[in-house]
Order: sequence, then C-alpha cells, then structure tokens
Amino acid sequence: MLITHDTECALGILVELLNTSPDACGSERFPDLPALGAFVARHEISEVDSLTAADLAAVHRLRARLREVFSAASTEEAAELVNAVVAAAGTTPRLTNHDHHDWHIHYFAPHAALGDHLAAELGMALAFIVMAGERERLRRCEAPDCARVFVDLSRNRSRRYCDSRTCGNRLHVAAYRARQRAETVATG
Ligand SMILES: [Zn+2]
Ligand SMILES: [Zn+2]
Repeated sequence: MLITHDTECALGILVELLNTSPDACGSERFPDLPALGAFVARHEISEVDSLTAADLAAVHRLRARLREVFSAASTEEAAELVNAVVAAAGTTPRLTNHDHHDWHIHYFAPHAALGDHLAAELGMALAFIVMAGERERLRRCEAPDCARVFVDLSRNRSRRYCDSRTCGNRLHVAAYRARQRAETVATG
C-alpha cells in the first residue's frame, strides 16, 4: 500500500479521535478540556498553544464530519467530504524537522487552532488513502453492537472488528457458546 509512516500515524490518531464520540462508544470520551489535553499530550501534537471551549466544540464537529468519510457511499462522495474538511482548515504544507523528528510535512497552518490542525492533518491522511485506491480499508466494526471505526492495514484486508481483543473475541465466544448449545441439544 502506498502510504507513508506519517500517514499511518495520522490514521492512528484519526481512529482514536473518531472512537471517542458517543456515536461510536455510547459515551462522550472528550467531555472536557482535560480529556482533550490528554489526547494532545499523548500524541505529542505539536504547536498547540492553548485549549479553549471553542477548541473542544470544533473537535466535536470535526469528529462528526470525518466519521462521514467512513460511511461514504462512493469514492466521489468521500473525496468531496475530504476536500471540504481540508479546504476549511486553511492548509499550508511546509517541511519541518522539529524536535527529534526527521523531515516531514505539516499540513496545518503554523499554530493553527486544534480543530483546524487536526482537520488539515487527518483530512490529508484520508486524502492519501483515497488517492492510493484504498478507501475500502476505512471500516466500521462488524460486531452487531459496536459502531467503532478502524483502518484495516492488514495485508489481505481481512480485518472485521475494531479490536480483536474485545469485539473479535466476544463474537468468537458467542459463536462457541452457540455451537455448544446446539451440540447439547443434538446429543441431549
Ligand atoms: Zn511534526
Ligand atoms: Zn467493535
């Protein structure tokens, strides 16, 4: 797949962000600024000066828009959604080698507000996935009671669940119990 390590990192942040929404997990995981600040710190998101209630609201709005890309009915629709997100972010690509990192491109405008920063970076990561012809790797978990999203980076695109330790296993256990019940009935 023709995506860079930087894009892969951005996709990791994207998935984590989308799965903080009540739509995905039933409760708001970004209810306040400390929760948002912890996310920024954990991912070492650079050039974030300070966070306000406006930033939190912007991130909530962005999250809903980015999630739509995962449920787009066509590549055209996905491209339109991504273009709109990136265009609204005031994107300004520039090379940088800040801190301990090698040269890489920042798409966000210098010291952009967090919502615009994430819109530029995560929107471009989605643009690279669409450009690589890999849109179908943007998936929603197939567990019946789960609405989390993930990006399937497996070689054979075979991943079905958001997290094999939770949804995948839970379904395996359910299937195993159903088989046991069927056998008990058949032999009983
Ligand atoms: Zn950087
Ligand atoms: Zn799941």
